[in-house]
Amino acid sequence: MQLTNRSKIVVNKEMTFAEKIYLPAILSGLLITIKHLFRKKATVKYPEQTRPIAPVYRGWHVLKRDEQGRENCTACGLCAVACPAEAITMTAAERKKGEEHLYREEKYAAVYEINMLRCIYCGLCEEACPKEAIFLTDRMVPSDMVRTNFIFGKDKLVEGKEADKRIDVSKRQNAHRHQ
Ligand code: SF4
Ligand code: SF4
Repeated sequence: MQLTNRSKIVVNKEMTFAEKIYLPAILSGLLITIKHLFRKKATVKYPEQTRPIAPVYRGWHVLKRDEQGRENCTACGLCAVACPAEAITMTAAERKKGEEHLYREEKYAAVYEINMLRCIYCGLCEEACPKEAIFLTDRMVPSDMVRTNFIFGKDKLVEGKEADKRIDVSKRQNAHRHQ
């Protein structure tokens, strides 16, 4: 009995000799595999090799120092207010006598943290900063298995004092000036 009139009669065709021994099918499969061995690879051997990054890439932030090695950030909080992801928190402190070589302004960030899991790398913190203290760079945030390790403090954000530890953001600064 037919339930619908759309049923199709399936023809169980007898297999040919070549189909029965499976060898031609196996060989054509191997041929496809061998062809792929000589094609350009779609993958790279990360982390030894990395793909080129677009000039507009925004990654791991840097808190800049001035030419004398003093931290630029004055803990004004504008970056935190501008941040749509509420990823930035900070605690301000007053610069004491004798700390002029450490902090450029009278107020500085004793604690400055960015939650890299909340951050959407929009760059608004950079736009909001009146002191050219924070910039996004082309460095990628490394992967980690522990969520709390993605809260980056000053140890991971402030650039080193030595010339070879400075992070070059001149391209981004120039882009701002020409806007
Ligand atoms: S890049 Fe955007 S989301 Fe990330 S900390 Fe800055 S303002 Fe917040
Ligand atoms: S990074 Fe810039 S905007 Fe943010 S608190 Fe420091 S000085 Fe203010």
